[in-house]
Amino acid sequence: METKPDVIVIGSGVGGGATARRLAENGVNVLILERGDWVPREQDNWSVSSVFFEKKYTAHDTWLDAKGEAFRPSIYYNVGGCTKFYGASLIRFREKDFDDLLHVEGLSPAWPYRYKDIEPYYQEAEEIFNVHGDDTDDPSAPWRSQAYPYPAMATEPVVAKMAKSMREYGARTSALPLGLNHFEGGNCIRCKTCDGFPCRVGAKSEAETALIQPALATGRVTLSTNTLVQRLLLSEDGNQVTGVEVMRSGKVEVLTAKLIVVACGAINSAALLLRSACAQAPDGVANSSGVVGRNYMAHNQTALMGLSLKENDTVFQKTLQMNEFYFGADDYSFPLGHAQMLGKLQGGMLSANVPYLPKIVGVTMAKHSIDWIAFTEDLPDPNNRVLWKDGKVQLDIRRNNLKPHKVLVKKLASLIRLSGYPVVLTKPLLKHSTSHQCGTVKFGNDPATSALDQYCRSHDQDNLFVIDASFMPSSAAVNPALTIAANAFRAADHMLKKDFGIDVTKQPAEAKAKALIYGAAVRR
Ligand SMILES: Cc1cc2nc3c(=O)[nH]c(=O)nc-3n(C[C@H](O)[C@H](O)[C@H](O)COP(=O)(O)OP(=O)(O)OC[C@H]3O[C@@H](n4cnc5c(N)ncnc54)[C@H](O)[C@@H]3O)c2cc1C
Ligand code: SF4
Repeated sequence: METKPDVIVIGSGVGGGATARRLAENGVNVLILERGDWVPREQDNWSVSSVFFEKKYTAHDTWLDAKGEAFRPSIYYNVGGCTKFYGASLIRFREKDFDDLLHVEGLSPAWPYRYKDIEPYYQEAEEIFNVHGDDTDDPSAPWRSQAYPYPAMATEPVVAKMAKSMREYGARTSALPLGLNHFEGGNCIRCKTCDGFPCRVGAKSEAETALIQPALATGRVTLSTNTLVQRLLLSEDGNQVTGVEVMRSGKVEVLTAKLIVVACGAINSAALLLRSACAQAPDGVANSSGVVGRNYMAHNQTALMGLSLKENDTVFQKTLQMNEFYFGADDYSFPLGHAQMLGKLQGGMLSANVPYLPKIVGVTMAKHSIDWIAFTEDLPDPNNRVLWKDGKVQLDIRRNNLKPHKVLVKKLASLIRLSGYPVVLTKPLLKHSTSHQCGTVKFGNDPATSALDQYCRSHDQDNLFVIDASFMPSSAAVNPALTIAANAFRAADHMLKKDFGIDVTKQPAEAKAKALIYGAAVRR
């Protein structure tokens, strides 16, 4: 099958995985090309030392910053992409995030479709990712056609106490929607090594367990690991992608298919399109508008650590979110953003992030801390760019919309203090924090100002799609993975209908239910 797939999907992260699964379940043959390998299930998966100090699973890549200085990015090249290590917070964007939304430093532009158009796909993505949630007390929650598939993850006493206190001081908190199989028959053990770690027992709903494994189970998908896509090749008239040049087992090969889906992550997808520049597309493939690589966004993010004399014995801490100030506050009329709890910080993690901190101090602080992260939307700026320079990715980026972020962090720090943690330490995650990267190959209705149409098809090459986080014209202020998956299902449905004449009907309930729990049951 590998020599003649219908569709080649480049990248096995949430964008590529969702596309491949949807296509394969509806009869299309797919070849997935992934530059990395499987993440082995092993003891080191849950080792702070291996994951945070030795960075055992972080990609060995070198990028350049705006000044041309080299750094090792926090990026993951493996089956499942970044979601193998993500925190599994699976949150819908708010309804107003799809419209023009005025921020204090500028406009967050409207999407070519609205919330109602993606809502059914959010629902499906939540089912596939086993999302546990409850919108009660989330003042900015968008409407939903069905309840969450599973009830919210329970909060432990220290966290419940904090929620009560924050409410008393004017900020409602609600359950953080999480993708785990913590239900009857599921094997999630609510461990302390979830956020930032791969799940050793395969209970986290991520791109490998929820998308790639079920896609492979259809028998219509071939996954080629350790296969780096170097360039896309164009037809003489430049209107079609005719080949995908790969490096596999030390050899260069050219693979072909009717449709090509680029899903390498927002930075690497832009880099691939840019380095595929040729006579027919001198500024890069899909780039007649000139937007490829521009408008990079990744959220303004700050971690907050509240310290008290009492020990925090919470094991699974990441259960609360706070959207009270998402669209503003009584004393601030512009959007501020979102906050959520982090997985419980451990001593080793602190020392890895703050190298000058003695280990014993880090361990003691972590025992007494409660941990949050605040996100504020950053705005698309064409001067914030991914470039391809001297054979390397270069990130030429200046952060924006920091004023409301500072206000949000101040409000959250005050709430944490009032809740019994008199000392609050903050750490802005500005430099090289690419975890929520998006926006670099944006979609839109106008080919002069966007690279993709509303189904993520290139305006320039009509057999080319880019289906990962790149398409987003604005970043909202919550984690992106659920939206990447929902948008991928929508794009794949369009592809099935337009390019394969397949009208997507719902799978029979029995088959669907089987697919939903497949990821949890798989043991390699
Ligand atoms: C530590 C961490 C925690 C996070 N927590 C959350 C969270 O709780 N909730 C949430 O919603 N989001 C979270 N995110 C963000 C989320 O993981 C990403 O938004 C999402 O995984 C991006 O998916 P993607 O498909 O766009 O790209 P990726 O996940 O980056 O996948 C791209 C894939 O393409 C492959 N690839 C790249 N280039 C090539 C090439 N040239 N040839 C072949 N293959 C290639 C890569 O190896 C990779 O497997 C987190 C991210 C990180 C890093
Ligand atoms: S067992 Fe549950 S809590 Fe632990 S890493 Fe896996 S999904 Fe996360």
